[in-house]
Amino acid sequence: MAQPMNSPGPSPGTGAGTGTAPAADAKLRFATVWLAGCSGCHMSFLDLDEWLFELARHVEIVYSPVASDVKTYPEGVDVCLVEGAVANADNLELALRLRQRTRLVVSFGDCAVTANVPGLRNLWAGVDGGSRRSVLDRGYLELADTGAQHPHAPGIVPELLERVLPLHEVIPVDLYLPGCPPSAERIRAAIEPLLRGERPLQEGPELLRFG
Ligand code: SF4
Repeated sequence: MAQPMNSPGPSPGTGAGTGTAPAADAKLRFATVWLAGCSGCHMSFLDLDEWLFELARHVEIVYSPVASDVKTYPEGVDVCLVEGAVANADNLELALRLRQRTRLVVSFGDCAVTANVPGLRNLWAGVDGGSRRSVLDRGYLELADTGAQHPHAPGIVPELLERVLPLHEVIPVDLYLPGCPPSAERIRAAIEPLLRGERPLQEGPELLRFG
């Protein structure tokens, strides 16, 4: 368990990731990211309970909404769990940046894997295929009791993308971890092999079922 991951880098042909494995005695540089999701996947990560102490022996948390106060995604990350779909300009910018700076990106939970709940707004897509305008009209004009107007705070409220996208439609993904949320057992089953430098064996409904 003490050996850092050194083989399962980005998928062949992705051309992504930082590419350099950590030194043999180094801790894995570990991150988690929260895009358009409900945080339930992160809550499930915290359900790892006392195994988090074991994890902490092998990784350094370098970026995470639940375990770090670092505001800028750092360089040289080994593994990143990405919760949530890509729904707005901030999500997109962070997804692109983390891909450049991460060796192994995990699509973490059904929202990242399929767009899932946030992707429901794609059902409001107009004839041009975009849902940004129609969903804003519905929420801020048609359903408004008073003061109907679109939100307008440039630089503060990130712009919605026309469609909500699963992570792999935006950046290459190295591993998929479905579930809404993935159970703590499933998360551990994925992470433990990575700590040994192995790719997790994902077979059977217990490890692969959606929902
Ligand atoms: Fe929440 Fe489920 Fe999406 Fe995870 S996959 S962010 S638990 S809705």
